[in-house]
Amino acid sequence: MEATPDKPAGLYVHIPFCLQKCRYCDFYSISDLSQTSRFMVALKHEMQMNRRRPLAFDTLYIGGGTPSVLAPEAIGELIETAWKYFNIASDAEITIEINPGTVTFENLFEYRKMGINRVNIGVQSFDDDNLRFLSRIHSARDARLSVEWARRAGFNNVGLDLIFGLPRQDNMNWLDDLTQAGNLEPEHLSCYMLTCESGTPLSMDVKTGRIRWAAEGMILDLFNTAIDFLTESSFLHYEISNFARIGGSHHEPRTSKHNLKYWTFAPYIGLGPSAHSFIEPARYWNHRSLATYLRQIEDGKSAMAEKECLTKTQRTIEAIYLGLRTTWGINLAEFQARFGINFANAFRKPVAELENQGMIEINDGHCVLTRKGLLFIDSIASMLICQGLS
Ligand code: SF4
Repeated sequence: MEATPDKPAGLYVHIPFCLQKCRYCDFYSISDLSQTSRFMVALKHEMQMNRRRPLAFDTLYIGGGTPSVLAPEAIGELIETAWKYFNIASDAEITIEINPGTVTFENLFEYRKMGINRVNIGVQSFDDDNLRFLSRIHSARDARLSVEWARRAGFNNVGLDLIFGLPRQDNMNWLDDLTQAGNLEPEHLSCYMLTCESGTPLSMDVKTGRIRWAAEGMILDLFNTAIDFLTESSFLHYEISNFARIGGSHHEPRTSKHNLKYWTFAPYIGLGPSAHSFIEPARYWNHRSLATYLRQIEDGKSAMAEKECLTKTQRTIEAIYLGLRTTWGINLAEFQARFGINFANAFRKPVAELENQGMIEINDGHCVLTRKGLLFIDSIASMLICQGLS
C-alpha cells in the first residue's frame, strides 16, 4: 500500500462521450452513446477497485468528454459511489464540465442538489461563426443561457472556457469574446490557445492547406490582449491560461482547486478511459479505448495501460516547467528541499541571460516569468533545462 502523501488529493472522473466530436479536439471521447449504461456500471466497479487508497480528497472533477450527456441520475449515482469509496472532504470542490448544447436548467438544478458546487462551461466563443468553425454543437445564445441557468440553479462558482488563435481571428473579435465573458461575471475564466493536435480533422485541414494557421505574432497579440483585458477587469492571472475573478461574493479569488493539483505535484487519481493518475513519483494512465476499458474492468482487472516511475531528473524538469506556468513561479526553497539543487547556483548562467532579456525575474525566493517571458514559456523552460541540468 502507498504511503499517504501530505497534500490533499484530487479525484478525476473521465466521461468518454460527446454528442459530436469537435474538429480540434484530442481528448478521448466517442459519439456513440450506446454504451453509457455499461460504462457507468464499469466506472462504479473501478471506484470500488480503488477504494483502499490511503488518500484524503478535497476535489472531485467530473470531466471528459461531455459529462452533461449523461442523465442527472447517472451523475448522482457517480457522486454517491465516489462518496462511498473515497475519503472526500465534506467541503470538497465538486466540479462538473458542461457543454452548453447538452444542458437544461432542470439538469443544473439537479446537479446543484446532488452536491456539485462548481460548473465549468465549455463556451469557447460568443461568436457563432467561430463556434461553427470549431464545430461546436451549441450557439453563443446557448452559452449565455447556460450561465444564466447555472446562476438560477444556485451555482456561485462558475468557470468558462474560451479558445483563441482561430485562423483569421483578430483582436476586435477576441476582445468581444472577452468582454462578453467578463459581463457574465464568472468566478473563473480559462483562455486556451487553439492547438493543432495531430490526427484531428483540424490538423488534416491544415496539412492539406484548406486552413491557414494564424501567424505566431497574431497569436501572441491575442494572448497579450487577454492578459491586459482580464487583469484590468479584476481577474487574477494565476496560471498561464487561467484567471480567477477578484471580488464578488467571495473573499478569495476562486482559482480551480482541482486544476492546481496538476501544477503543484499534488496527488490525483483518474478514473475512466484515458484518465491519468499521479502519486509521486509514479504516473500512470488508463487505456484510451472504451472497449478495452470495459473489457478490463468487466474481467475484474485494472484499467491501467501503463505506469512510469519518474526519475529525479524527470521530476526536476516537470517542476521547472509546471512552476513557470504559474504566476508565483518556482519556489526556490521548495525546489532545493525536493531535489537537493540550489537553483541560483545551478541555473546561474541561463537565469542571468534570461533576466537580461527581460524574460525572467527572481523575486522573493521565486523564479517567475515576466509578461514577456510568458509568451515564450516553452523555449525558456528548455533553455533552463538544457543549460542548468546538463
Ligand atoms: S465537446 Fe469537448 S471533449 Fe467533446 S469533442 Fe468537443 S472539445 Fe472535445
